[in-house]
Amino acid sequence: ATVEVVEEGPFRFRIPRRGSMRVPGVVFASRALLPEAAGDQALQQVVNVATLPGIVEASYAMPDVHWGYGFPIGGVAATDVADGGVVSPGGVGFDISCGVRLLAAPCERDALLPRLGQLMDALDRRVPRGPGRGGVWQIGRTELEKVLVGGARHAVERGHGVARDLARCEDGGALPGADPGQVGVRAVERGLGQVGSLGSGNHFLEVQAVDTVHDRAAASAMGVRERQVCVMIHCGSRGLGHQICTDHVRTMDRAAARYGIEVPDRQLACVPAGSGEGRAYLGAMAAAANYARANRQLLSEAARDAFEETAGYGLDLVYDISHNLAKIETHHVAGRAVRLCVHRKGATRALPPGHPDLPDGLAAVGQPVLIPGTMGTASYLLAGVEGGGAWHSTCHGAGRVRSRHSAAREVDGRALRAELEARGVAVRGASWRGLAEEAPRAYKDIDAVVRASEGAGLCRRVARLVPLGVVKG
Ligand code: 5GP
Ligand code: MN
Ligand code: MN
Repeated sequence: ATVEVVEEGPFRFRIPRRGSMRVPGVVFASRALLPEAAGDQALQQVVNVATLPGIVEASYAMPDVHWGYGFPIGGVAATDVADGGVVSPGGVGFDISCGVRLLAAPCERDALLPRLGQLMDALDRRVPRGPGRGGVWQIGRTELEKVLVGGARHAVERGHGVARDLARCEDGGALPGADPGQVGVRAVERGLGQVGSLGSGNHFLEVQAVDTVHDRAAASAMGVRERQVCVMIHCGSRGLGHQICTDHVRTMDRAAARYGIEVPDRQLACVPAGSGEGRAYLGAMAAAANYARANRQLLSEAARDAFEETAGYGLDLVYDISHNLAKIETHHVAGRAVRLCVHRKGATRALPPGHPDLPDGLAAVGQPVLIPGTMGTASYLLAGVEGGGAWHSTCHGAGRVRSRHSAAREVDGRALRAELEARGVAVRGASWRGLAEEAPRAYKDIDAVVRASEGAGLCRRVARLVPLGVVKG
């Protein structure tokens, strides 16, 4: 069956409530992007999410929405914790706290170009990637437990970074509430050897240059200016997060009936957020989130070392933010302060200017939001805005239009690398197939996605970045 969609405004579409939907669906998109959203099962997934117990306001989809496990990627859903609202691992995704960080170099693009090849080789040597493979920080179980609780903060305490980094990490680098006791044996085993590693193809470390500044005041507060060289890192919680998702989906799948929960798709397995199983998942999820933050902190150290070695200077952290997470947040619903479990899967939190959770120096401009595009197009630095919708959330990337499988069938990795190199983007890949799966044509138009997100009132543009070189997972 096709999903009925009604245009409500320039960048806003509604899926009216029907059947077992508890709330309507709201899709933020341009007319041009909407067919791409409708092309796969993503809109049906928006409808399925709208049936979850305790969901409030709407089941939201961002302009980069596409099909995912249970929930769409680019989906946002909040449930009322006090009213039996559920938490669902499918609303976070397998790569718990996958996210992006941006670092800025004290250097302009033209000054770096003569040394770009040398820099890329240094990054190539220092950045572990591909499935499996070890990380830059080899740790034992005791240290891992500290990582699960302390995240990037613990990594900095151990000397992997500077105190200022933590002011530029969401949650100060450590999500509270982590419970290592809820992280299974297998998850720990998978996590031990991978701290400081990218993982597979969609994850990357990219050297970029600022090509447009859209908002000079915000860019300057964030430490970014025209032509500046930056480094963008995209990765998550590796095998540890994946195993936690797998383990807790299984538990919830069995437990749901006890809470009288029925879902239209098994992949939406969920339990009340305040139940024993719900709290266990949230504790394990926070541990994985901290692992992901430490992972990005260690990869930043690798990037800093490569810059020091080849260029003689380091990198300042602009910001680090996750796009796969569930958070317990207080929001006003119908004039009342309510504790919500906000699932953002392939969606980014975008706090407005003046929000109390923002660090000094960013309060005036809003939360920085980091949006990767593709290795052949652009990426963006955005900021949260006053009144932003969907519980202060926005997009997380360009979003797929082709599956990995069909991209790999259509694109030849070697030819793609040659094409990128000819256009001035240095490529250091892990595998030809991985490269082909992430070809720019596998994704939507990032400029259009960001324009729609801004047009829908979810965020505003601060700066646009273009790639100079990519180290691909
Ligand atoms: P996801 O977290 O959904 O796997 O990916 C987030 C976004 O990263 C994708 O929607 C895509 O737009 C972007 N992306 C994937 N590969 C690359 C890359 O190599 N470079 C850049 N800049 N963006 C990428
Ligand atoms: Mn990921
Ligand atoms: Mn991601």
